[in-house]
Amino acid sequence: SHFAIAIDGPAASGKSTLARELARRLGLVMVNSGAMYRAVTWRLIEDGVDLSNETAVVSALEAMEIDCGVDGLSSTVSIDGVDPGEALRSEQVNGKVSQVSAVPAVRERLVALQRDYLKTADVVMEGRDIGTVVFPDSPYKIYVDADEAVRAQRRVAIGEVDSVADRDRDDSQRKTAPLKVAEGAVILDTSDHTIESGVDAALEILRS
Ligand code: C5P
Repeated sequence: SHFAIAIDGPAASGKSTLARELARRLGLVMVNSGAMYRAVTWRLIEDGVDLSNETAVVSALEAMEIDCGVDGLSSTVSIDGVDPGEALRSEQVNGKVSQVSAVPAVRERLVALQRDYLKTADVVMEGRDIGTVVFPDSPYKIYVDADEAVRAQRRVAIGEVDSVADRDRDDSQRKTAPLKVAEGAVILDTSDHTIESGVDAALEILRS
């Protein structure tokens, strides 16, 4: 009986900001699914797992205890009892997360955890496949986009080392759950929006 608002889009499209603001205004839990892929990637790197060896990745994954929860109105994730914190957004994780998230066993495990959130809460969930795979039946789907130049600028403004274009290419071209506009999703281009006007536009979409 709980519902999910699905927010998908490429890196630095503004989807995290939008999801956070929607959650705040509507009193919903905001779930950052990218943080889960990042946490698994962080742990694999910490353990020195050869990421090009899918068998090694899968057996390391099977040994991991992954805990997803809620703190206030935001999702949390920890691996074997450790919340990676700032390390989730490190240059190393940025550079490897697309490779790890292309592994079907990784996606299967995390998609199940993402769906579990609906057992206890109404959520705004942001990611790449929320409208296509995680909650395909949701009536609330937004695909957030922005011009390439605007997205690159947003990343620079936060000071993150991240090859956004490479990640988007990899995320769109992978075989399992590639980034694409979900059936029934409305496209919201945030290039010329402020945060406020973007949230208003999203609320308009959700009401229609
Ligand atoms: O959203 P964020 O940029 O933090 O996601 C990091 C990476 O995690 C993406 O580039 C993508 O490879 C992966 N991801 C995914 N599916 C999701 C969310 C994130 O494959 N639902």
